[in-house]
Parts: sequence; C-alpha cells; structure tokens
Amino acid sequence: MGRPVSYNLNVKPLEGDISIAEMPDGYPGEGFFSTSFGKVIGLARKNSIWPLPFATSCCGIEFMATMGSHYDLARFGSERVGFSPRQCDLLMVIGTISKKMGPVVKQVYLQMAEPRWVIAVGACASSGGIFDTYSVLQGIDQVVPVDVYVPGCPPRPEAIIDGVMRIQDLVGKESLRRRNGPQYKALMDSYGIQ
Ligand code: SF4
Repeated sequence: MGRPVSYNLNVKPLEGDISIAEMPDGYPGEGFFSTSFGKVIGLARKNSIWPLPFATSCCGIEFMATMGSHYDLARFGSERVGFSPRQCDLLMVIGTISKKMGPVVKQVYLQMAEPRWVIAVGACASSGGIFDTYSVLQGIDQVVPVDVYVPGCPPRPEAIIDGVMRIQDLVGKESLRRRNGPQYKALMDSYGIQ
C-alpha cells in the first residue's frame, strides 16, 4: 500500500519581487528602449561570470561555504564554477601560494581566454599574509594582474561575495575597447604576457 506523500507542506509566500538584473543606462520610450552595445554586453557579462576557484588552503573552505545554500553565490549568476581555464572568465586565487606554485597560477591565467578577471581572496593570495617566509609568494600580483583584493584571514563568505560584486561592477562598466588599448598592452607587457 502506498504511503501518502506531500511536498512543500510549509510553502512560504515570496516576499516582494524577485530581484532581476538592473537595466543599463539608456533611453526608454513608448514600446522601445535604446542603449549602447557596450552596456548590453557588460550587462550580460557581469551576470554570467564563470569562476575558476584556484583554492589551496584554509580560505578555500570559506569559498565552499560561499557556494553553499546559505550564502549561495549562484544568486549573482556565478553558480557555474568550472575547473577548465578555457571555459572560465574569473580566476579566484584562494589561499596561500608558494613560489613553486606561482608559475602554475600564471599558466592557468594564460589558458583563460580574454576577457578575464582575477580576484585575490584572502590575505595570503593578496600579500602572502602571515607567511612572510622564503617559500611563499608575497601576493599573486607578482605573477598575474589582479582586479580585486579581498582582505581577511580568512575572509568571511560575505567578504568573498562583496569581492565578486566589485568584479561585477568592473565587468559591467568595462569598455569593449579596453583590452585592445595601449594601457592594457603595457600592463600585460609588465607581466611578460604577449
Ligand atoms: S589568509 Fe589566512 S585563512 Fe586564508 S589561506 Fe591564508 S592563512 Fe589561511
């Protein structure tokens, strides 16, 4: 004999509207909305970031909490965490990076397609943290350019989410021509990247 099964016994009503992506600046009118191509691309990119977590130590555990249901990074369009550099556009370096590991971080960065962004999550990735020693890289910006630094040892999930939101701001506002410009080329040259 079958057992009666019920789902969603305590359905909660939605509180307020489900938030949706903000509309870019533009000109609304009767039945139309016009904006620039760059703003539409920025809107799409900032709400569909695919992170590659390069997690080596304790900060990685905070990142796991950030991806869990309580903090839920998926709310920002970033639930698709991937480990193939060719598919990802946000390198999240999370944890202590030894000098031996530096070239590996750089190799992963080089395998990512443009446009790509980088977050240094936690004190170790940002500056070497408490490990002011011969073997630890004193900040990943010695091997790859960093867009956002998240402080903390470890940073709480809220701080990691804040870092992702700062990246979203950068991504949404980035000019489509930036990566072809002389300043970006000079930045890449300073890291020995063609
Ligand atoms: S910043 Fe602190 S918590 Fe994060 S990897 Fe370094 S020692 Fe661990």
